[in-house]
Amino acid sequence: MPVLVQKFGGTSVKSVGRIKNVASIVTRAAEHNKLVVVVSAMGDTTNYLLKLARQVSRSSNKRELDALLATGEQISIALVVMAIHELGFPAVSLTGQQLGIITENVHTTARIVEIKTERLESYLNKGVIVVAAGFQGTNPEGDITTLGRGGSDTTAVALAAALGAQACDIYTDVSGVYTADPNLVSSARLINEISYEEMLEMARVGAKVLHPRAVELARKHKILLRVRNTFDPQHPGTVLKEVANMEVYLPVSGVTLDRDQARLAILKVPHTPGVAGEIFNALDEHRISADMIIQAFHQGRGVTDISFTVKRGDLEAARKVLDEQVGQLGADGVLSDENVAKVSIIGAGLMDHPDIPARMFTALGRAGINIEMISTSDIRISCIISDRDANRAINLIHDLFHLDEGEAPQGE
Ligand code: ADP
Ligand code: ASP
Ligand code: MG
Repeated sequence: MPVLVQKFGGTSVKSVGRIKNVASIVTRAAEHNKLVVVVSAMGDTTNYLLKLARQVSRSSNKRELDALLATGEQISIALVVMAIHELGFPAVSLTGQQLGIITENVHTTARIVEIKTERLESYLNKGVIVVAAGFQGTNPEGDITTLGRGGSDTTAVALAAALGAQACDIYTDVSGVYTADPNLVSSARLINEISYEEMLEMARVGAKVLHPRAVELARKHKILLRVRNTFDPQHPGTVLKEVANMEVYLPVSGVTLDRDQARLAILKVPHTPGVAGEIFNALDEHRISADMIIQAFHQGRGVTDISFTVKRGDLEAARKVLDEQVGQLGADGVLSDENVAKVSIIGAGLMDHPDIPARMFTALGRAGINIEMISTSDIRISCIISDRDANRAINLIHDLFHLDEGEAPQGE
């Protein structure tokens, strides 16, 4: 029998009733597959655990934070197994350590290095359904690590790759990948097929329906990855493909919003070699990743401004790093703003359509929405805007490119 990996997110296992629903989907698939079921923590459990940690300590030790956060998934795997047993099927729960998931020696954002599948495979060969804890592993010393928020998707794809699974189905609370978050844009349209490349870019800039690292892994290992609805399991959902349509692309496939953003600028740093290196090395030492890095041009004045974005949770730490740099580099000061959001359009055909950025910026301007920063890649245009304009912006861009209908495909 082929191996199938099914992953159920937090909303899919939020309550006892939903856990029973998951058990019935799983047992149907178990008739024809060796089955690995990856589950997230129930509902908002991970947020609740984080809140508890913050109440005890404002800067929790990351090793202990991982030990705490991993308990969420431990609850749901045991309950899902109990519900499967009730339906008369053999099943066993395995934590990250029991699954043999070895990660780097990093806490809260660890990457998977290796999966030792012997134990897992011996259960599968005996016809036992394995219910695996998402989001967690252990470092080489045997300490619990976690993979970063949303990381259960990555566990599922990594297990699918390690086992040579025929497919990996990510079950969630919507019917697949849409042209925009269907909870923000009511006219969002379901995308039946999307390329790994476009999905990766969408996931990186806010479409949280898939974790970017899961998409990366699926592309690398050529895993058939599908996004499906736990509450409508017969629906085919969205399939990720190498190339959706050879040389015939929609110029814009989707629009995303990322509200977990903050903007920083260090003002009037010396315009000399090595300065940017110093600033970003200092940020890297604190494991803060910067995005949308822009260096402004001050003609002939020997100074420059450097601005960038970080995740909102990193703002305080990033500000501290920059404040120190102001003294060391003789800069003018630091500006920061946490009330910003990033709105992005994604499309494999963007490069062939120079009118698209013009149309996007003009529409935002006409709506009185100021663009604070712009960055582009081959298949993406992102704008930083004020957070209060975020919902209006995503809806107006979705309308602008008629994403509800799907514009006529544009060939070469
Ligand atoms: P899970 O708990 O199953 O992992 P997530 O909350 O992580 O679920 O992801 C599902 C959510 O992703 C949806 O409820 C939806 O609000 C959001 N989302 C954002 N962008 C998109 C998109 N383009 N298509 C589908 N869902 C999206
Ligand atoms: N429970 C973790 C989180 O909430 C992992 C996941 O759900 O994918 O981020
Ligand atoms: Mg998720």
